[in-house]
Amino acid sequence: MTQIDYTAFEAEVRSFAETHCPADIRQMVRDSKKITRDAWSRWQKVLFDHGWGAPNWPVEHGGTGWDARQRYIFDTVLAETRCPPQYHHGLRHLGPVLIKYGSQEQRDRFMPGILDGTDWWCQGYSEPGSGSDLASLRTKAERDGDDYVVTGQKIWTSHAHEADWIYALVRTSVEDKKQKGITLLLIPLDSPGITVKQIRTIDNIHHVNEVFFESVRVPVANRIGEEGQGWTYGKYLLSHERLGGANTAPTFQLFDGVKRLTERHGGSALRRADIQLRLIEIESRMLGLKEQGRAAVGAAMRGESLGLMPSGLKVISCNIQQALCDLAIEAVGPTHAARRGTVDPDQADAEALRWISTYFLNRSRTIVGGSDEVQKNLIAGQLFKGGLDPVAPALVPGPVFDAALRAGTDGGINWAAVLGMGWPMTLVPEDQGGAGAGLEDMVAIVEGAARGTLDLNLAMHCAVTPLLLSHAPAGALHDRLLAGHMDGSAVVLTALLTDEGGLDSRDFSLEPGANPLVSGMLGGVEALPGATHLLLASADRLLAVPLDGVGIAENATLDGRPTVDLRFGGARAEVLAEGTAAARALNMAQPVGTLLSGVDAVGTMVPVIAQTVAYLQGRRQFDQPLAEFQVLRHRIADMYLTYLNSSAAVLRAMNDMAEGETAPRSLAMAKLRSSRDAKTVAHGAIQLHGGMGMTEELPTTRLNKRLLQSGFDFGDAMLHAERLAAGNL
Ligand SMILES: Cc1cc2nc3c(=O)[nH]c(=O)nc-3n(C[C@H](O)[C@H](O)[C@H](O)COP(=O)(O)OP(=O)(O)OC[C@H]3O[C@@H](n4cnc5c(N)ncnc54)[C@H](O)[C@@H]3O)c2cc1C
Repeated sequence: MTQIDYTAFEAEVRSFAETHCPADIRQMVRDSKKITRDAWSRWQKVLFDHGWGAPNWPVEHGGTGWDARQRYIFDTVLAETRCPPQYHHGLRHLGPVLIKYGSQEQRDRFMPGILDGTDWWCQGYSEPGSGSDLASLRTKAERDGDDYVVTGQKIWTSHAHEADWIYALVRTSVEDKKQKGITLLLIPLDSPGITVKQIRTIDNIHHVNEVFFESVRVPVANRIGEEGQGWTYGKYLLSHERLGGANTAPTFQLFDGVKRLTERHGGSALRRADIQLRLIEIESRMLGLKEQGRAAVGAAMRGESLGLMPSGLKVISCNIQQALCDLAIEAVGPTHAARRGTVDPDQADAEALRWISTYFLNRSRTIVGGSDEVQKNLIAGQLFKGGLDPVAPALVPGPVFDAALRAGTDGGINWAAVLGMGWPMTLVPEDQGGAGAGLEDMVAIVEGAARGTLDLNLAMHCAVTPLLLSHAPAGALHDRLLAGHMDGSAVVLTALLTDEGGLDSRDFSLEPGANPLVSGMLGGVEALPGATHLLLASADRLLAVPLDGVGIAENATLDGRPTVDLRFGGARAEVLAEGTAAARALNMAQPVGTLLSGVDAVGTMVPVIAQTVAYLQGRRQFDQPLAEFQVLRHRIADMYLTYLNSSAAVLRAMNDMAEGETAPRSLAMAKLRSSRDAKTVAHGAIQLHGGMGMTEELPTTRLNKRLLQSGFDFGDAMLHAERLAAGNL
């Protein structure tokens, strides 16, 4: 197989987009104007002539044969170069249906016009009485010889006023279950008997219409598949429509626009700080969204089942877009909002006014294509019937994850058992007596253990401590501690003397020199039974302190994990590393700990959500299981969506780190995300357990506390947000 040079591919797409996308079309995108049919068709023709007409179709149907990463690069570069995304109704919605369910004759007839941009399609699904409950649609199609005769009305039909064709779900039977009497027809919009009427919308843009059908004759040859099977085809089409969220490039484009806007319309210092922090929050959610998009495109291209991916992508991407527009309108402020009627661009800030339209337009995101509420019904349906496992894949699936999950689930695992499984050796190179495994294996262990509800700080004891030691220069003490920490002959604790350490230090001081005196108190150091040494890790020194003679008081974290408060009555430390060597050891260890604490959080969210689902199924109120109440089902769906986005952000950060990139920015965003989201999931679980959520006996309580604690480990959300805001990551 030939290796793809993605950098060269990206350069090729960029150069093509910059030189071939007509300047007037790029200007429309820059000005956030509605892309007209003419512009969109011209752009599609340019792409088609270059062989890039249909990146999402198989090669044999005129597709490009790109892999998921190339498709992602293509979409991203188009957005970055201010070229429009491709028009969706033909390529992304109907195209896949023609490929899967259309006849050869239909493919030959309809696909070329979609490919080269000549034919323009719109979607005739919704009706005045049938929105979310689409299957109740009533526009009827009666067979008359070789034709159907269609009578009824569609509503909210985007682009109908500029389209040539409508793909419409119509009712061909009322005999059976309502889903069974639906048929999918392809109807030319210039057919006699069709009237299109504009609907005025709050964004002042003409895009939706009513479409009236009065005895419109449609040849039977224009029917997709079999009569009465339209619901199956229509749903398949909708799943592709919802996958639209997998193209995250427009969201990033929107983000850039809002960021620029907020820089110009900041207001007071407090307002600016608030806007900056909210942008960082949104950006961190976009990190996960990007990873979710990649995963979905990859799965779709491999022909795998997409499960809840389309619903997850749709809800998360649409909510992010709305949050961005919300920020934009706040930045624009009342001055411009009150001048919305202004048409003379010299008299008002035209860009600010356009944002008001964009804001209104984006309110429709969570309504169209199956509203947020409908998606949450679907998600809850899966979680309550099919469980969480099929829709919560491990970050790094495989035998390592499975073994850790089993170990965690079996319970009763202590430090001796962890040593027996060799987990502290994982990241230590083989020539230092370790297993020489990669970051992904450690992630698999930590996530598996967390899902199995194992209660140990593996991030600190199995990753940070061994990594600090293995990256310090060799020496007698170093060798003894590293080997001892792996075989149990030494038990080494670690205190990170950094902002991430989160330690309570009182009168703590370290002398300079080769054998410095340590004095004062350090509280909240993660503990292990029989600890023999403490590593003190800072950016310029790595020290080891023998613990005999140090005053040790037992304590615990928020979730009851053992910690110790250490009182150094004049203990002497030994230097393991100084200067750049110490900084290097810290830089190798601390980011891994930060990542793993995010992994621990997303791993713990899974049993918390699963246990909450089980509780709602078992507990009855008002003569029925709580699981029957939609408000509670939606809260579970929200918890799942929170988990989904968080775990994707953590996965992205892991990949950036594993690929050897210095990934401090994605790491900070992933940790910010997992910290905030851990809290959200814990709060949901406490609330949905009612009074039981407040009790110590409930197994979920310990996990809830662990989620809350994970938000503090290796720096809390605010610490990472501040780093991101400082702009040097
Ligand atoms: C800008 C725009 C463009 C559109 N483009 C098209 C298009 O091109 N083609 C097309 O066919 N349609 C299109 N639509 C229609 C769109 O798909 C529908 O608006 C959508 O399906 C919701 O239907 P409805 O408007 O009838 O709302 P309703 O179904 O009446 O819903 C009203 C509210 O109740 C909630 N709700 C409904 N049922 C449930 C339930 N079971 N549980 C919980 N909550 C529920 C909804 O989420 C919503 O908040 C478009 C709509 C808009 C606004």
